[in-house]
Amino acid sequence: MTASCKTCYSYAINPHTHGREAGVDLDLCDVCYWRKRAAPTGPVLTDDEAEYLFEEWYDADDIGPELVRATERAVLAKLRGGA
Ligand SMILES: [Zn+2]
Repeated sequence: MTASCKTCYSYAINPHTHGREAGVDLDLCDVCYWRKRAAPTGPVLTDDEAEYLFEEWYDADDIGPELVRATERAVLAKLRGGA
């Protein structure tokens, strides 16, 4: 049983890792899962930005909403020349 992301068609759906809440948004890959959580309060991310962000999140031991937002701010500032 292989599912792909409903947004970007990635197969990188790992419901039990990367700080994902169990049973939530199982039709979103890990990147889109966290992008969905970052986006409502932050800027809209391009696919490239979201992937870059997720690489940062991927290595984090304790990913969560606070880390998502903090990293998002830092990465976007870097990618967009500081804003
Ligand atoms: Zn996706």
